[in-house]
Amino acid sequence: MDDAGLDSNGHAFRNAKEMWREEIGLGERVEEDATSAPAAKRHAWYRKGISYWQGVDASVDGVLGGYGHVNEADLKGSEAFLKPLLIDRFGNERRHLVALDCGSGIGRVTKNLLLRHFNEVDLLEPVSHFLDAARENLAPEGDMKEDVHMAVNFFCLPLQEFTPEIGRYDVIWIQWCIGQLPDDDFVSFFKRAKVGLKKNGFFVVKENVAKTGFVLDTEDSSITRSDLYFRDLFKQCGLYVHSSKDQKGFPAELFAVKTYALVFDKPKGGRNKKIRYKPGPIKEPRRS
Ligand code: SAH
Repeated sequence: MDDAGLDSNGHAFRNAKEMWREEIGLGERVEEDATSAPAAKRHAWYRKGISYWQGVDASVDGVLGGYGHVNEADLKGSEAFLKPLLIDRFGNERRHLVALDCGSGIGRVTKNLLLRHFNEVDLLEPVSHFLDAARENLAPEGDMKEDVHMAVNFFCLPLQEFTPEIGRYDVIWIQWCIGQLPDDDFVSFFKRAKVGLKKNGFFVVKENVAKTGFVLDTEDSSITRSDLYFRDLFKQCGLYVHSSKDQKGFPAELFAVKTYALVFDKPKGGRNKKIRYKPGPIKEPRRS
């Protein structure tokens, strides 16, 4: 990506490479020693992110940066995106579905969206007071009936340190947290997470998008990438964009929000459309 970017103080960068060199020492000499400059810088990047979120209220308003009132529009948009995808990838018959909610915060997405469609949901969240709140918010209510939908595992880990159990998930949902990861950790996360998906499984990435280039937030060590930037990284991960959608109904002063469904199998269609066999004289097998 060659597009120029900005940070939240108005400081300009010529491109993302320059920003990552300054922020985490990417491209500088890599030392084996964990206390070397690049490793220490990366550590500081993540520490700043985590301590920012440690200071945020474990509430819907908190995880939505003071915009708790967009909660409903967000969930509505996500549901409209997810429902047809589930049918497209897994068919109409009822089956046992399992999802992973990454950077789950207090379990907002799990509670109001994922548990409606998935029998089991695991949560991954590095900030313990959010995960504790999620456990409380998602505690099973009343009698356990047949066909329960429930939160199963609560992993207190950041994305960059997580590797899923092989073949456990139909969907891995990543919303408003991938910006905490520098490009190299972003790419290695998806490459590792691939083993966690079942056949026809997919990722959903729902994130803020910058108009061009990127915007670095120096307060919480996160980056908002442009659509082009995201697509370039998805390619590096070996992922295809199955479909994508713009979020509607958010306040104009916010970043645009985009949802991507990402798959590892090349989507059918276009030049890869199935070729129908048409019987006719030219299809006669040749006799030698
Ligand atoms: N996805 C949730 C929460 C969004 S707030 C929702 O939509 O409601 C951003 C979340 O990302 C916070 O819970 C924060 O603790 C988490 N986070 C911060 N750094 C992270 C990292 N390195 N890996 C995974 N999650 C991270």
